[in-house]
Amino acid sequence: MFDVYSIPLTTRFRGITVREGLLLHGPAGWGEFCPFADYDDRESVPWLAAAREAAEVGWPEPVRDRVPVNCIVPAVGPKRAQEIVRASGCATAKVKVADAPGSLPADLERVAAVRDALGAAGAVRVDANAVWSVDEAVAAIGALDRAAGGLQYVEQPCRTIDELAAVRRRVDVPIAADESIRRAEDPLRVAVAGAADVAVLKVAPLGGVRRALAVAEACGLPCVVSSALETSVGMAAELALAGALPQLDMACGFGTGALLTSDVVAEPIRPVDGWLPVSRRAPEPVRRGEVAAPPDRARWWADRLARVTAAG
Ligand SMILES: [Mg+2]
Repeated sequence: MFDVYSIPLTTRFRGITVREGLLLHGPAGWGEFCPFADYDDRESVPWLAAAREAAEVGWPEPVRDRVPVNCIVPAVGPKRAQEIVRASGCATAKVKVADAPGSLPADLERVAAVRDALGAAGAVRVDANAVWSVDEAVAAIGALDRAAGGLQYVEQPCRTIDELAAVRRRVDVPIAADESIRRAEDPLRVAVAGAADVAVLKVAPLGGVRRALAVAEACGLPCVVSSALETSVGMAAELALAGALPQLDMACGFGTGALLTSDVVAEPIRPVDGWLPVSRRAPEPVRRGEVAAPPDRARWWADRLARVTAAG
């Protein structure tokens, strides 16, 4: 049994304005299958494995009952950035940088404002989403690190694993790999290549909580868990990974739920004072009728499910 949802976003993200996905039900509860439209059938196989794990098997025992989360500061002005940080109650802020060509002066102002709002004990991390060249990254990271009074890490400064490794040799700020792990043929190559100090893990593209735990163990890097713009059903799986990782020393990136105008559950999973509780199964999706996709989109997802099942 499955349901297809369609939920408008509060702002355009990854070029989309509406988020769609499919909810699967099985003996262990609910799972969410929601690869973005630009993922082909083969790339979507792990997303289905993650949804099946949640619905059919359930998740491994957690070792903690709550996890710290970061707030997300998009490419906004310094005043707005401080409002976001203060309203979140989070001790860690993830700041979007390199959003447009020539954005560095505004980026520097934003990270300085965020540091001011967080205080010396807080952690500031930045995400460049793979847009810099190696030289641009080295220059920008040095300036951002000074403006922030110390960066916790910089996430995906460049696109390729080789570029990440080159940047890492030239800066002292730790490098986190996100896109490089999510879409890699072999996520472990990141660690082997000396390309990162931190691994950003997401359950859905890695094929489930157990697979993600295996990647964490094999890569041997400190890990941060991040959500993939899921509803609270998929978010619960990401939280299950954060709850089960043997070591978790940094805040996780679970702020994407705020981008959805609605959710499939009665009480969406949202951080309180910078923390989220870990639970053993996904919350019950009780609002499925209200967010049901139109029939043509429901058929599209049913076809996709059949194709990805056959590809897996
Ligand atoms: Mg990222």
